Order: sequence, then structure tokens, then C-alpha cells
Amino acid sequence: MIEPRRLKLYNLKDLDLIPQMANLSAEERFATKVVAHVLPFRSNNYVIEDLINWNNVPDDPMFQLTFMQREMLTSNQFSRMATLLHEKAPPEKISQVANQIRYELNPHPNGQLAANVPVMDDEPIPGVQHKYKETCLVFPSSGQTCHAYCTFCFRWAQFVGLDDLKFATDESRRFQQYIASHKELTDILFTGGDPMVMTYKKLKTYIEPLLGPDFDHIQNIRIGTKSVSYWPYRFVTDKDADDVLRLFEKVVKSGKHLAIMGHYNHWVELSTDIAKEAVRRIRDTGAEIRSQSPLIRNINDSAKVWTRMWKEQVKIGVIPYYFFVERHTGSSQYFKVPLAEAFDIFRNAVTKVSGLSRTVRGPSMSAKPGKVVIEGVADIHGEKYFVLNFIQGRNPDWVKRPFFAEYNKAASWLDELQPAWGKSKFFYEDELKKLTAVPIGSSSHEMDGFAASVWN
Ligand SMILES: *Cc1c(COP(=O)(O)O)cnc(C)c1O
Ligand code: SF4
Repeated sequence: MIEPRRLKLYNLKDLDLIPQMANLSAEERFATKVVAHVLPFRSNNYVIEDLINWNNVPDDPMFQLTFMQREMLTSNQFSRMATLLHEKAPPEKISQVANQIRYELNPHPNGQLAANVPVMDDEPIPGVQHKYKETCLVFPSSGQTCHAYCTFCFRWAQFVGLDDLKFATDESRRFQQYIASHKELTDILFTGGDPMVMTYKKLKTYIEPLLGPDFDHIQNIRIGTKSVSYWPYRFVTDKDADDVLRLFEKVVKSGKHLAIMGHYNHWVELSTDIAKEAVRRIRDTGAEIRSQSPLIRNINDSAKVWTRMWKEQVKIGVIPYYFFVERHTGSSQYFKVPLAEAFDIFRNAVTKVSGLSRTVRGPSMSAKPGKVVIEGVADIHGEKYFVLNFIQGRNPDWVKRPFFAEYNKAASWLDELQPAWGKSKFFYEDELKKLTAVPIGSSSHEMDGFAASVWN
């Protein structure tokens, strides 16, 4: 029998109230506080009491996922903030320096926020990103936070207030008109933050309309969420947990596929009774759960961790889906893993599981032109090359056309790779320039013709 639990959030100002922090030295506690003045800190009672192994700090992966480490900033950045805290500087000064440091941490790789926002009647549609023909992302305005924050989070800029929420859906719900009128769409992916922080009542207003006749073309609804790991009570004992599950059932009964895209970074997150119960109850509704995670230094940078995670997932019915390469933002210096090593870890892990776990795809970079995976390392006449492939492309026609880059042990993102054999660019680059020149759906003549030729 699982007892209901009240969610208790801990933010920066509550760091000293967390009793387990006594396991750290005064210096370590101070370092955590310094970095948490720059990057967003949030945790909760479940993560702190049940997921972190306090006998194993600071190495414990769930601790690393939750609490900031000194090395997440450069020593220069760290000492700028540390000095202010030592001096008990006024809050305005602290937030001014915090923002300076934040802008040094590449808050918007690829101009993420503005990119791929479609337009309708020459106005952008807040809350939508439409990059790949058949799928669009929806960012519900009430789902732009999480039950806890990950130290590596690629959306960290949003949580420290660098971004206002203008990119999220607004009251007009024009995003629904956009989806209704774009018949090429088959998939809607609700994302955030975490859409599952929404109450049942809110969530319903996003999902139920998609079951109506204007949305017959929408076959699959996905919800990207970390709640299955950080607050599985959401699906078990929270007051509206049963309502949420009935909503899931309703989607499935309507004949659409519902996929909960669970962010699991480590097998520890699946090891508690409550985490397994959440999975069981979600699957009972007929929804599927697929899993995704980036590869993160100091958290899951070993093949063993992935093998064990995928095995546990498949056993309880969670389908491994994506193995991502971490983006260059925030403290990526601390978390990044070079592509060559990422591929080795992926290969070592995937060769040790049965075919049921090999649904996972990776190592995948969500880059400007699309999702690019490292397919392998090829030896051609005694030279090593990366074999790359699109698993999703801004132009769908780029998918499954293997291409080659010089092998490079240090590179950790697509833009650090050189095309093989001295070529000046990769095959998609010219077309990418044209495709990104005008927003999707723009009434510009040229683009209409272009979008049509690309997507139809
Ligand atoms: C990954 C991703 C999708 C979904 O792609 P699938 O191949 O269907 O999983 C959609 N939009 C964006 C921007 C993505 O990064
Ligand atoms: S759950 Fe996802 S969006 Fe939320 S902090 Fe973690 S990585 Fe970021």
C-alpha cells in the first residue's frame, strides 16, 4: 500500500533547510549555494529522501543531477559570485552578476526559442514549434516548470527568468487552429518544462480538444515528462491522479496513440516502488511509455548504467527511445561527453541487451538541420571516419542518407565535425540555409513554394 505524499519543494532560499545537506562540508555547501545563484536549483522531498543516496555524495548520480557543483562554473565565474556572497552584497548586485554569468553560458544554443515557431496570417503562433513535417511541439503556458530541476537542464535559461513565457501558449489558443489547419501533422508533443505539473483541469483543456473532429489527422499524442521520475505520485496518490489516468484512457479509447515520453537519466529513478507503480498505472490506461535521456558526464557516463536502465525499463514495459548528446549550454563543460566516447558507451551498452531494448536510437544530436545520429565509426582504407545519419530532418528527404565526417576524438557536437575527404560542407548545408531563411507557414511566396516542395 502506497501512502499519499505531499509535494514539498525546495528552492535556493531553502538550501539550508535540507537536513541531509549536513552530510556535506561547509565548503561544499557554500559552493552549491554559489552556483545555485546562477543556475536554477529546485528539488523536492521525494528526490531528496528516496532517490539520492546520501552515503555516496558527492558522487551519487542523483545528487549530481540535483545539487550544483563548484566545477559547473569556470573558476573565474565561481569566484565572481562567491566574492559577492562573502561580502553579503545587495540582491541587485548579485542578480546583475548572475545574469552576466548566465549570458556567458550560451543560454540559447541555435537560437532555440525563436527557431521553428510557425506563423499564421503573418503572426507567430505562441507555444508551437514546428520543425519536422509530421510533428509539432506544444509548450503549454502552465506546464513551464518541473517537479525538480536537473543540473544539466538545457532549458535552464527559462527557469532563471532569462526568457519570459511569450514563447508558451497564450489564452487565444491559436495553436489549436494551427494544428487543425495543418493536415500534414500526425503527432502532437506536449513539452515544457513539464506538462505534468499541470492540474488535471488544465491538462484536459490541452488534450481533450484534440479528440474532436477537427483533429482527425492527429494520430499520436505525446507528453514529454520527468514526473515519472521526480514525482511518480502524480499518477498514483495525488488528488487528481485518477482523473489524469481516466483522461489517458479516454485518449486511447478514442483510437489515438498516447505516449508518455519519460525522462529517465539513471536506473535509480526506476528502482522505487512508487516509480514502478506509476508505470504500471499509466500502462493500464493503454498509454505507452517511452524513455529518453541525454548522456551526461558524472551522472550516466558508463555503458553499465545504460544497460541496466534499458533492461529494467523493458521488463516493466517502458520502451527505450532516445539516447541524446547533451547540448552546449549552461554547465555543459562539466557534463559534456565527446562524440567518440558517446558512441563507445552507446555501442557497449546496446550490444549487451536483447532486441527489445534496441528500439533506442542514438547517440543523437538535436541540431539545426535535424536529429543527427552517430551511426558508427568506419575504417576505410586504414582511416577512421564517423558515419552520420539523419533520423529526423528539416527536410524529410535527408533521412537515411549516411554521410561521413573526419573522426575526431575531441568533438562533442555536429558543428565541431569536418566533412570527410576535404569537402567544404555537408550535403544538406545549402538547402538548410534556404529552409531557415523564412519561417514555416509564412505567406512569403517563395517559402510557400519551397515548403510545399519540401514537405509534400
Ligand atoms: C525529436 C523532435 C520531434 C519528434 O521527432 P520523432 O522522430 O517523431 O521522435 C519533433 N520536433 C522536434 C523539434 C524534435 O526535436
Ligand atoms: S525535467 Fe527536463 S525540463 Fe525539467 S529541469 Fe530536468 S531536463 Fe530540464
